[in-house]
Amino acid sequence: MKGVLIFSAPSGSGKTTILKRIFDKYPRMFGFSISATNRPARPGEEDGKDYYFLSDELMKEKIDRGDFLEWEEVYQGRYYGTLRSELDRIWSEGKVVVFDVDVKGGVNIKRMLKDNAFSIFIMPPGVEELENRLRLRGTETEESIKERISRARMELSMACNFDKVILNDDLQEAVKTVEETILQQMEKWNVKFETNL
Ligand code: ADP
Ligand code: 5GP
Repeated sequence: MKGVLIFSAPSGSGKTTILKRIFDKYPRMFGFSISATNRPARPGEEDGKDYYFLSDELMKEKIDRGDFLEWEEVYQGRYYGTLRSELDRIWSEGKVVVFDVDVKGGVNIKRMLKDNAFSIFIMPPGVEELENRLRLRGTETEESIKERISRARMELSMACNFDKVILNDDLQEAVKTVEETILQQMEKWNVKFETNL
């Protein structure tokens, strides 16, 4: 089994921003597992790229059928799940699988895959800064920001379950630490890495 990387963080911590920088640098190495969700697409998001956007009915059907490696009702009525078929899709491309999942999902996948997975928690500098970033991102309603902040408090207490916690205060520094950590892990797994630079 090839290695699997898990990234989790409270919403607004900067996980997407960090991952984008890393994957732009190593496009041939990593394959993002595309999750399925029944939340509506945000402007600019594409079906089959950012998520598989499913109707409530189809999401429930897939849950009942056992199509997901794990799934969570991350926010009320909003389900997110990792499709088992994503692992084979990405491995068949010869890439390392990357999961970008909520904190509970991250802990669950690590529990299932054990040493075949390495889990990273992206830590925000504080709850106030998290709220700031969510506001500045401009994608959430006031209600959604409140829900994300209240969930963040629970999620922060789960950081100790991850293999590595990386603080995202200075973005540049966080990206560098994430990159170094991943490359170290790749060496342990004996996975060759190539950059496009
Ligand atoms: P997540 O994927 O964890 O929900 P995002 O990557 O969308 O978070 O980041 C949330 C917002 O915070 C974005 O607007 C992003 O540009 C900003 N951001 C990310 N990292 C930092 C940082 N180190 N300092 C300040 N703002 C940041
Ligand atoms: P967003 O709505 O901001 O895209 O995502 C909300 C949360 O759902 C994020 O914390 C994200 O990591 C998480 N998430 C995305 N896909 C999955 C998944 O497949 N499983 C789980 N458990 N969480 C996911």
